[in-house]
Amino acid sequence: MYLLNHYTAGVILFGDRTQLTSHRLPKYIHANTSTVFLVDPAQSIKQLDDSEHAAKRIQEYFRVRRTRHSITDWVDVKWKGGVMGHPLQTDGCSCGVVVVKMAKAVMESFPLIPNVNFECSKKYMKRERRELALEILEASVFDEHTYCAMCAALRPPGSGSPITDWVQCDDCERWYHAQCLAMDSRDFKKAETGYWNCPLCNT
Ligand SMILES: [Zn+2]
Ligand SMILES: [Zn+2]
Repeated sequence: MYLLNHYTAGVILFGDRTQLTSHRLPKYIHANTSTVFLVDPAQSIKQLDDSEHAAKRIQEYFRVRRTRHSITDWVDVKWKGGVMGHPLQTDGCSCGVVVVKMAKAVMESFPLIPNVNFECSKKYMKRERRELALEILEASVFDEHTYCAMCAALRPPGSGSPITDWVQCDDCERWYHAQCLAMDSRDFKKAETGYWNCPLCNT
């Protein structure tokens, strides 16, 4: 499996900087079957044609790499384009969730190609976005007695004010910035004086 950053992949696939608008599309280079998948959750591209074009560009990239850096792995592979079955994004703001879920499906069925299938309704995307955020938070390693469990910093992001309201969960004892939980002053007072559960404990 090859991991390329979006910009590098964009330059390899689309050449010139003016054509980089498609650089954000997820790409999957599957070495076992010599296949390149260019996937668009919103289906705005012709996936087979564009994947075949991507395969050609990637083949050229490996050749250039041999010429410039004498690296020869994968240079003799005949890369081809492929299409991976996947659900379509139904709104304009869930591409992050769809891409993470597709990446998960790719990892889970590796080395086989997955036939990705999940619901894309707004309601489901909202729930998934929240669950993904919680999973990332729970997996984060940091000093939970010093930093905010939401932003992992001492000061809330973008806050110019030196005064910061903190609230502590009565169950897990993690600390949170009131701003990071979008608490208004009434919610904050209630949390500060009464029993309060954080979003991690309150699921
Ligand atoms: Zn915070
Ligand atoms: Zn908690």
